[in-house]
Amino acid sequence: ISSVDLTQACLDRIAALNPRINAFLAVDAKGALEQATEVDRKRALGEKLHPLAGIPIAVKDNIVTRGLTTTCSSKILDGWKPPYDATVVERIKEAGLPIVGKTNLDEFAMGSSTEFSAFGVTRNPWDESRIPGGSGGGSAAAVSAFLVPWALGSDTGGSIRQPGAFTGTVGVKPTYGGVSRYGLVALASSLDQIGPVTRNVADAAALQELIGGHDPLDSTSLPEPAPPVSSTVAQTRGTRDASGLKIGVVKELSGEGYSPEVLEAFNRTVDALREAGAEIKEVSCPSFDYALAAYYLIMPAEASSNLARFDGMRYGLRVDPTEGPVTAERVMAATREAGFGDEVKRRIILGTHVLSAGYYDAYYGSAQKVRTLIQRDFERVFGEVDVLVSPTTPTKAFPIGERIDDPLAMYLNDTATIPANLAGTPALSVPNAVTEDGLPVGFQVVAAAKNDPVMYKVAQLVEDVS
Ligand code: GLN
Repeated sequence: ISSVDLTQACLDRIAALNPRINAFLAVDAKGALEQATEVDRKRALGEKLHPLAGIPIAVKDNIVTRGLTTTCSSKILDGWKPPYDATVVERIKEAGLPIVGKTNLDEFAMGSSTEFSAFGVTRNPWDESRIPGGSGGGSAAAVSAFLVPWALGSDTGGSIRQPGAFTGTVGVKPTYGGVSRYGLVALASSLDQIGPVTRNVADAAALQELIGGHDPLDSTSLPEPAPPVSSTVAQTRGTRDASGLKIGVVKELSGEGYSPEVLEAFNRTVDALREAGAEIKEVSCPSFDYALAAYYLIMPAEASSNLARFDGMRYGLRVDPTEGPVTAERVMAATREAGFGDEVKRRIILGTHVLSAGYYDAYYGSAQKVRTLIQRDFERVFGEVDVLVSPTTPTKAFPIGERIDDPLAMYLNDTATIPANLAGTPALSVPNAVTEDGLPVGFQVVAAAKNDPVMYKVAQLVEDVS
């Protein structure tokens, strides 16, 4: 099949289904077909191409794309066309992957359901009355509904993995620093990571290798090249051989608060891994009980600083005050009042509060200490086991509207995914079961920092045995 045919098939399916699913905020048919035509032309001439050339891809709308709108699902950036490409975008363009469009998310990636998008909720293709997870619900739904073979997401507290679990897709957060953040609109810079959203583990590995590796434009980028995850997956696939692997079941993430159907699916997969030869150990990470609280202090603190740049002058929306003098401060206030949604305002207020003089040590300081404890828990258990596993989420996808007015219930979605962000370790979600009422659930695998290959190995085994 030619790249033009493949790209056109995606565009046709998007045209047919996106009005219902709302996974895409922008579709770039012209740009994608131009890229595809170029790949086909080079192929016809026998020119050397990247092995992934010609396969269309979607990009979460908080990753900048030159000349193509990047809104972060916020009114404050409505219509903004970035003047440059993110490093990951540059890499996929260089490899010849046509970018078909930009996908929906919770505003500025704050949320767990994509309901906080200023441009409407994305629906879960498995059950359109349910949310697809968030913040990367658009990328996950697009892949799940076969609108596109794969997509890019960003994960600050679970925004690739949780939507992966809710839509039956594979979602990966690579080791912090493994993929350049240059051109990712910053939410919480010490937690953010870009990663793949795909339909299987092998695709995720191929995509991670393509986008990963050192980038001088990101000061937190690791100096080394992308780890060889594709070869690990190729060697593992189909073997169903888990011998020699030590797998830790995290006690704190596989009991209380997790729904029976999620736990049952999880235990079945753990049993299957044991049968495949893995040594299963129960491990305890007591600090994980405080991860959620620490995250919801650190994350808003960093977000409030990062979002200060949206001042009505530098990017996108500008709203002048309706009365009184037009000063910089008043333009900023009017723009932010009109441009930001409720959840974003909630977090900016939280973040500026925890950073304020007098509260800094009590909140932000304590949260940083918890972060250190979490890192130590990880270090200790990774002395005993190769990977940690848990359900990705406490429940299956919930109905649209169920948690929108209850921030705490919404935040509780992230209990299992957040520790990996706080510690910078790689983590992924791979689908491992479908509930009786036909909804997917996900299995999380976490490895020590820079050990992405062993995480992929276990994920491939899970894919094969479930
Ligand atoms: N649900 C989490 C939050 O709202 C995760 C967000 C993310 O990973 N971008 O903060």
